[in-house]
Parts: sequence; structure tokens; C-alpha cells
Amino acid sequence: MEQRLRHEAKVLLEQGKVDHIIGFEPGSLKFTTTPLITKDKDDIDRLVINPFIVNNLSKFLTEVKGRVGIVAKGCDSRSIVSLIQDKQVAREDVVILGVPCPGIIDLSKAERLVGRDRDELDDITREGDRVVITVGGEKKDFPITEVLFDNCLDCELPTPQEYDILLGEPSSPISDKATSRKKIEALEKMTPQQRWEFWKNEFSRCTKCYACRDVCPACFCERCFVEESEPQWISPLPRWQDNFMFQVIRNIHVAGRCTDCGECERACPVNIPLRSLTKEMYDIVGDLFGFKAGMDKEAAPLLTAYALEEAEDLIR
Ligand code: SF4
Ligand code: SF4
Ligand code: SF4
Repeated sequence: MEQRLRHEAKVLLEQGKVDHIIGFEPGSLKFTTTPLITKDKDDIDRLVINPFIVNNLSKFLTEVKGRVGIVAKGCDSRSIVSLIQDKQVAREDVVILGVPCPGIIDLSKAERLVGRDRDELDDITREGDRVVITVGGEKKDFPITEVLFDNCLDCELPTPQEYDILLGEPSSPISDKATSRKKIEALEKMTPQQRWEFWKNEFSRCTKCYACRDVCPACFCERCFVEESEPQWISPLPRWQDNFMFQVIRNIHVAGRCTDCGECERACPVNIPLRSLTKEMYDIVGDLFGFKAGMDKEAAPLLTAYALEEAEDLIR
């Protein structure tokens, strides 16, 4: 896939079909990648596809000007479609280089499994439905379901349905819903008071860095409500009540746009389990409205659609 990507990306730039390519290059730390945004075909040989291409690159589409060739996994391609539905991106300005995605490795899980820091690991390789972690020359292998990110364990469309060039054979979903929803189910078993205490503790650690918002492709408002001063929706100080309210409002704003890409939780520097909120909202939107984000570029966005049989008089 990597060779095919480099070939296709070079052709796109050489033929002037795109102004920029957005993909991944190796990161400066072990087992990481970092976004590569370039218009120089000499950079193209730095593009990689591996089990660590974690970022949802569609975030950059609202920032990079001109026609763009973009590497997209299944969830990323749904975010692109969602941006098209919201008229933030024009379909004709994007060439989607689709990656049939086998799931992304969660380094924190790999570290926990072998009890070592990522710097101490020699290698992490994928072999079918197992992951082999080499530490001090010794190989240990684990089922893939123990090493992938939680969101990848309940991924409905790992192969992009919207693409211009598909870089490999379609991949099958890896399903372990129980593990994927484990944190959410633990919350569901709590009493309301216990849940309130849980979130109070979690959001007491929030530093209001807004990384969760800044990585989210569904958060594209030019001016976020947190920066409004008239009215001031939430205090700029990192009080837990305001931190919690920020996430509640953010979740409402991304309802019907969130593709469960998992980026917000991954980006949080203090490990607040934000996916327990976003995935719950994703499921509520699916159950109540039969709507899934980014499935159909011609469909109206969730919050602008209505049906004559709507329950609310206000809408009818
Ligand atoms: S959610 Fe699906 S498409 Fe996205 S990274 Fe995980 S497996 Fe890949
Ligand atoms: S809310 Fe989180 S999981 Fe949903 S699209 Fe945004 S970054 Fe991805
Ligand atoms: S990324 Fe984490 S710490 Fe930063 S604002 Fe979001 S929840 Fe708070």
C-alpha cells in the first residue's frame, strides 16, 4: 500500500491534479507517525502507511487551501464526507487516497501488556490477527483485540466507502464490542450520583488545553463558543463545572458529525475518557434518528433534516 500511495501521490502532484498531499511520515518518537503536508514531490518518498497512522487527517481540509490529495482510513473518509455534507469542503477539491484499515495499535495498551515503556520495546509487528511485541530480543504475541484502540474494535467501516483511489484490498471489520464499550458499560452500571462523582473527578483534571477540540474534524466553527464573551457560556478558568459543561456542549455540537475516530480521547494529555461521552452520543444518534455520520455526501446533516412525522410540534 505504501508503494502504491507514493506512486499515486507523485502522479497527482506531477499532473497538477492536486496542490497538496496530506499523509503520514515517520514521527520523531518510536512507533509514531506525524502528519505530512506537502506540495513538493521530493517529499513523497517520506509517506508511510503502517499500524501507527493514528491521526484523522481530515481536520486539515478546512485549513489547507487548493485541491488536496489526502490519505484516509475508513473513519477519516467518513469525516471527509461529513465535512462535505456541512459544506466545509467541496468534493471536487479532494482526491481521497483510501486506506483499507486493519486497525490502529494503541501504544499504551502495548506498554501495559509487556510492562515496559515504549522506548524499551524493540519492535511491534502485526501478524494476521496477532500482534508481536519484541522486548529485549524476546517475542511475545497477543490477540489483536488486546492491542487496538477501543474505537477500532467497534469499527463499522474500516474500508473507506468514499474514495478516488483505494490503495489495497478491502479489509474486514474487527469486532469486539464488549471491549470497545467496556468503559461506557462501567459508567452505565453506576448510580447517577456515582457517575456525577466520576465525571467531577475526571474534569477536575482537565487543563482546558482544548486539544480534544483542536484535533476533532467535526469541531470546525471559526469561533468556538468557549471563546465567546457576550454571552460567556463558560468561564475560561479550568473549574471542573465549566470543563464538564464544555464537553457537554461540544458533544451536542458534534452529534451526527462524530465518526468515533477516537482522536479527542487520544489527544487528551491527562487521559480523560472522552470517548465514553462521544461514543455514547454516536450510539444515541444512531438509535434515535437512525443516522450515522459521514455515510452519504448527498444526505442533509442530522441537525438540518426533519421528517413530517416528527414528534415535536415545534418542528412539524
Ligand atoms: S476506527 Fe476503523 S477506520 Fe478508523 S482507525 Fe480504527 S479501524 Fe481504522
Ligand atoms: S468527537 Fe472525537 S471521536 Fe468524534 S469525530 Fe471528533 S475527535 Fe473523532
Ligand atoms: S484535551 Fe483533555 S485536558 Fe484538554 S481540554 Fe480536552 S478534556 Fe480538557
